[in-house]
Amino acid sequence: MPLLDSKVAIVTGASRGIGKDTALALAEAGAKTACLARNEELVKQTAEEARKKGGEALAYKVDVSKFQELEAVVEDIYGRLGRIDILVNNAGITRDNLIIRMTEEEWDQVMDTNLKGAFFGIKIVSRYMIKQRSGKIINIASVAGVVGNKGQSNYAASKAGIIGLTKSVAKELAPRGIQVNAIAPGFITTDMTSKLKEETKETLLPQIPLGRFGLPQEVARAVLFLASPDSDYITGHVLHVDGGLAM
Ligand code: NAP
Repeated sequence: MPLLDSKVAIVTGASRGIGKDTALALAEAGAKTACLARNEELVKQTAEEARKKGGEALAYKVDVSKFQELEAVVEDIYGRLGRIDILVNNAGITRDNLIIRMTEEEWDQVMDTNLKGAFFGIKIVSRYMIKQRSGKIINIASVAGVVGNKGQSNYAASKAGIIGLTKSVAKELAPRGIQVNAIAPGFITTDMTSKLKEETKETLLPQIPLGRFGLPQEVARAVLFLASPDSDYITGHVLHVDGGLAM
C-alpha cells in the first residue's frame, strides 16, 4: 500500500519550485493533493502532473495572505475530499534590501505571505485536524531564519517567526495528536535563488560543506518524511536541509 494512501494533503506555493516538487512527491506517495498558489495556470499544471503520478489532485488559485480566500479554499477541499491530514505551508517570497533602505511595503509583503500566510493556514486547517485527532503540519522556514542573512532582515525575521510559530503550535496541538515541524532549507535551485548574482553564488558555495546547492526534490523528500507515519514521534523539530550550511 502506498505510504500516504487515503491521506489528504494541502501544499501552498505549489505552482513551482519546492512546493511543486513537494506536491508531486506527496501525490506519488498516494496522497490526494490540493495544490495552491496565485498563478492559476501553473498550479493547474502541477495538479495535472500530480494526477499522472496516479493520485487525485485539485488546483486552487489563492493568495495565502488573504484569510477569507484561504478559508473558502480549505472548506472546498474538505467538502470534496472529506478530511485533511497534511498541511505544507510553503508559499514564500523575498523582497531583499539593506535595512536602512528597506521600505515598510517590502517588510509587510514578506511578513504577510511568509509568516501570516502560515499562521492563517494553521489556524484554518487545525480545526479539521483537531476533530480528526490527527494531522501533520510542515512549515517551510529557511537557513536565513536560523543564522540571519545580510540584505534579508525581513525574510530572516519571517522565517525565524516560522520557527517560533512551529514550536508553539507543536506544543499546543500535541495533545490533539497533531505533529508540527519545520524544514529549514539552505540554498535550493529554484526561481527564488536564480535571482542571485553569479558572484554571490561563488562566495556562497565554499560555505556549504556538501559543496553544492540543493534540489527542490531533496526538500520534498524531507517533507514526505515529516508527512508520513515514519515521523510520528517527532514534533516541534526544525530539520535542516542545507548541505551542512548552518552547522
Ligand atoms: P519559488 O520558486 O519562488 O516559489 C514560491 C512559491 O510560493 C510559488 O509557487 C508562488 O506561487 C508561491 N507564492 C508566493 N506568494 C504567494 C501567495 N501570496 N499566495 C500563494 N502562493 C504564493 O520559491 P521556492 O524556492 O520554491 O521557495 C519555496 C519556499 O521555500 C519558500 O517559503 C521559501 O522561502 C523557502 N526557501 C527557499 C529556499 C531556496 O533556496 N530556494 C531556501 C530556504 C527556504 P505564485 O507566484 O503562483 O503565487
